[in-house]
Amino acid sequence: SKIKEGLKKTRDSVASKVNMVLNSFTKIDEELFEDLEEALVMADVGLPTAERICEQLRAKVKEQGVTDPQEVRGLIKEIITEMMEGGEDLRISTSPSVILVIGVNGVGKTTTIGKLAAHLKDDGKKVILAAADTFRAAAIDQLQIWADRAGVDMVRHAEGSDPAAVVFDALTAAKARHADVVICDTAGRLHNKKNLMDELGKISRVIQRELPDSDQEVLLVLDATTGQNAVNQAREFKNTAGITGIVLTKLDGTAKGGVVIAIREDLKVPVKMIGVGEQIDDLQPFDAKAFADALFN
Ligand code: GDP
Repeated sequence: SKIKEGLKKTRDSVASKVNMVLNSFTKIDEELFEDLEEALVMADVGLPTAERICEQLRAKVKEQGVTDPQEVRGLIKEIITEMMEGGEDLRISTSPSVILVIGVNGVGKTTTIGKLAAHLKDDGKKVILAAADTFRAAAIDQLQIWADRAGVDMVRHAEGSDPAAVVFDALTAAKARHADVVICDTAGRLHNKKNLMDELGKISRVIQRELPDSDQEVLLVLDATTGQNAVNQAREFKNTAGITGIVLTKLDGTAKGGVVIAIREDLKVPVKMIGVGEQIDDLQPFDAKAFADALFN
């Protein structure tokens, strides 16, 4: 499957480190847990999350009377699945629903919006894009290319115009054209938190006023290849922007897929989608069990 393929580099890294530990023990003792914790940290799971996984593992081993190190692999999969489950589905059941997409430049925001638009259109939904990253003309043009590729409408204004006005026009168009989902690109300027908050606040107020009863998502796009830096970005944006879900991109290009677990566990924000390539169908809904299986099989 695409997920398995996309996670190959991470699997080679995580599974080989974990297997090396498990294969070097004939019985389960404290040293095994310590080595395992180290292996998980090396696989970009992060120290707090690695500790929590091993804590739960100790409890499970004791509870189930497990003695064979080889059985530990299945238990780790269970623990990771349980950690990552819950809230993965996009809440977009009202028509229209609104998805705000945020993230710093280069993480794959435009590509993600394009892929998501195509995916939702395939599902029979009428999608409108709002080019509300008005900071760069290139961002608007890039998004237009994806809108055309996906075959969906896009509302755009000139570079430098008010992002909230773009969103307002997109919502008006969505109501008039009976669209199902409005996906709004936004400028992710993390280095200027006050601007970012003001801008997102203004956009949110427009949405609340125009579509108070609609389903709304605020998706943060993160680049998995940046490892722990993605975790830090997630923390910053969580504090600044009230995100409802995370999209992790470029998992195909990295061995650092362990960050998915760190982000979910540290921030308690669901991972909703993952990017496993540059093509239009390379955005996958996140499935905790498939993810854990792909890491260890
Ligand atoms: P933006 O600046 O955040 O809008 O980023 P873009 O959408 O322009 O993407 C930046 C680069 O990352 C482009 O070359 C994309 O093709 C690439 N990219 C985005 N998502 C993925 C992914 O899931 N896998 C891979 N391999 N590349 C991706």
